[in-house]
Amino acid sequence: MYSKNAWNKYSGKKLENLFGFNEDYKNFISKCKTERECVAYSVELAKKLGYQDLKEVTSVKAGDKLYVTNRGKNICIFQIGEDDLENGINILGAHIDSPRLDIKQNPVYEKNDFVLLDTHYYGGIVKYQWVALPLAIHGVVVKKDGEVINVVIGEDDKDPVLVITDLLPHLAQEKMQKSGAKVIEGEDLDLTVSSIPLSDEEKDACKKNLLKLLNEKYNIEEEDFLSSELEIVPAGKARDLGFDASMVLGYGHDDRVCAYTSMRAVLDAKMLKKTACAFLVDKEEVGSIGATGAQSKWFENVLAELLAKSGNFSDLRLRKMIENSKMLSSDVSAGYDPLYASAFEAKNAAYLGKGLTFNKYTGSRGKSGCNDASAEFMAEIRKVMDENDVNFQTAELGRIDLGGGGTIAYIMGNMGLTVIDAGVPVLSMHAPNEVVSKVDVFEAYKGYIAFIKNI
Ligand code: MN
Ligand code: MN
Repeated sequence: MYSKNAWNKYSGKKLENLFGFNEDYKNFISKCKTERECVAYSVELAKKLGYQDLKEVTSVKAGDKLYVTNRGKNICIFQIGEDDLENGINILGAHIDSPRLDIKQNPVYEKNDFVLLDTHYYGGIVKYQWVALPLAIHGVVVKKDGEVINVVIGEDDKDPVLVITDLLPHLAQEKMQKSGAKVIEGEDLDLTVSSIPLSDEEKDACKKNLLKLLNEKYNIEEEDFLSSELEIVPAGKARDLGFDASMVLGYGHDDRVCAYTSMRAVLDAKMLKKTACAFLVDKEEVGSIGATGAQSKWFENVLAELLAKSGNFSDLRLRKMIENSKMLSSDVSAGYDPLYASAFEAKNAAYLGKGLTFNKYTGSRGKSGCNDASAEFMAEIRKVMDENDVNFQTAELGRIDLGGGGTIAYIMGNMGLTVIDAGVPVLSMHAPNEVVSKVDVFEAYKGYIAFIKNI
């Protein structure tokens, strides 16, 4: 159904299923606040359902259920279909990194009997949104001997949280004259983390006490920050939003809402003709570069291994497999916000409640940098969504010439496969707490299953 409010379809048992699925999703984003945590959760879920590591199997045949990970930060989950791989596979792609603050390599300093940690923001954050909020640390510290210490502090009710302080309004007259981009600057985003001195110490007594505590509690020394990846994220769980609980307020919907629904679609779909793949990727928020970004060769290497283990590999067969594959590159869309109506062109905006959003193109100005999906592919998708009773809409990213943006779609398009941008509309995108509609989460999940079964 095109551009209709999807809530009208749901009542009774169907509505219960919709809310139930969203409870699972809320649990996922409440626990998984880093790319590593998303991958670990996905591996655990896949294993429970009988999925095996592609690296550990010697042959691949129809009906097999496989997963494979890349440096703990990407995962591909495959359900092998009946059809020859050369005829292409159906791929659901999404990213699992979200905007955040990273702890610097040399972060610890003391000032006026406070100890602070220096951070460097990751992705496009609005800096003034990150002050005076309870924050948690998620990540890893790797010791020189290779031991990996997993760190999650600030989520349990008994845990402490951290904060970036802000100036009181009584003394903020000068600050309030600054532009939004400058009112809080990158180097001002330092965390206040402790304030008790180590007795008898003359210099840096508070810092020394913190380091002693970190060592006793977590076996971490100051130099260990050099080999750490510690991400500062909003503390606490995702919550129901609104008196009718129709929405979810939480951190990291961009793009874990598409990642979770894509992953669940591949895990839950039954009897597939074509092989289905959920590809969850890192580094989208900083340009999809590096060994764990979508531009990495890793995905192509995985497809080569899959083809080789299916027993009939040639370079030409691999290339044909890629060319014949089809993909929904899923990322959140800018939901139409009535408080900021002028940022949108109302006829071509994504609305919360109207279901899975397709962006034929994204980009900025004259569609610069976009993957422009073909009219033929768009027609195929309309047919499948309509035949499977999936509410969908089409949208652009805001008003022309206002800004713009991109996703991983063009990168996958460059590989030579057929791809379109899809996803769930979000309000307050990139803010510490973002908003999605539960009905869109569920329609996306249903739309992804319809795609992998019918395309
Ligand atoms: Mn995104
Ligand atoms: Mn983003």
